[in-house]
Amino acid sequence: MIIVLKRGTAEEQVQEISERLSQEGFKIHLSQGVEKIIVGAVGDRSRLESLDLEALPWVEKVVPILAPYKLVSREFQKENTVIKVGEHEIGGNKIHVMAGPCSVESRSQIIETAHAVKAAGATFLRGGAFKPRTSPYAFQGLEEEGLKLLALAREETGLQVVTEVVDIRDVELVAHYADILQIGARNMQNFILLKEVAKTNKPVLLKRGPSATLEEWMMAAEYILDGGNNQVIFCERGIRTFENYTRNTLDLSMVPALHALSHLPVIVDPSHGTGRWNLVPAMAKAAVAAGADGLIIEVHPHPEKAMSDGKQSLTIPNFTTMMDELESLSTALGRPVKGAR
Ligand code: PEP
Ligand code: MN
Repeated sequence: MIIVLKRGTAEEQVQEISERLSQEGFKIHLSQGVEKIIVGAVGDRSRLESLDLEALPWVEKVVPILAPYKLVSREFQKENTVIKVGEHEIGGNKIHVMAGPCSVESRSQIIETAHAVKAAGATFLRGGAFKPRTSPYAFQGLEEEGLKLLALAREETGLQVVTEVVDIRDVELVAHYADILQIGARNMQNFILLKEVAKTNKPVLLKRGPSATLEEWMMAAEYILDGGNNQVIFCERGIRTFENYTRNTLDLSMVPALHALSHLPVIVDPSHGTGRWNLVPAMAKAAVAAGADGLIIEVHPHPEKAMSDGKQSLTIPNFTTMMDELESLSTALGRPVKGAR
């Protein structure tokens, strides 16, 4: 429920209404805009009716939120959420490109990639240190050593770091090194992990589960906001369908759908979304045209030698060309891809 208070409502009255709602078991989220004060109350709707809040002279209206997701919804917050990461803003006008290898493999690999993607216009470095692999025999990541290499690359290039956390036991460790915590597709409904990242003050990149509906995905984000962390970025990375030419089916309709239903930023991962490097640039451009706030792209200096996801990784020259093409498109759309902020 959203309780809209009249302009100029005194602080004590805001307090009073918040306390009354808390006593009735509602969770309160206050939003003090210039125009109006909005009290968001999440809880049992039937209890609200007996409170008769609309009888209070300073209450303008009480608006129920019918969808199961509340804090994530556009009804709850009209303005886009803009997430600050270092000097960057995700969800603002600029489209951010996060690029790097699937996995951090060695010092030279991550440092070379970081310099190259930065030169091409990326603002974030991606790279997995903890890898959720389909096979237990596949490379599982360098773990803390990988996190240290990412931090070193950040120091050398100024790129911010996004990396995945797969286990509640590692949340603190990964949060110590990363600027954005990635929740992978396989963990989208790992509710214990979602509650744990909610306790950090780091932005969370929430990938869509391979078989998750839009509503399930938004409910996963709701867990993080409900846990006290409202810095969530949705990431469409393709879903499982009958098509098997591509690794997943990239569902770009989620970009405008999420923008309509939620105030949170939305980015797209055309690398996992296609599984084929030669399809990545076209789908990256399509994502930007659809209104994505950013892209996350796998880049490797030698994809043929990559320890994971080489087939979908762009070489450095191919990434650089893609960034130039994206810049022409995004300039036409009035949302730059390159540039400092
Ligand atoms: C990744 O980003 O390398 C990854 C494992 O992605 P996803 O969780 O989308 O499969
Ligand atoms: Mn990968």
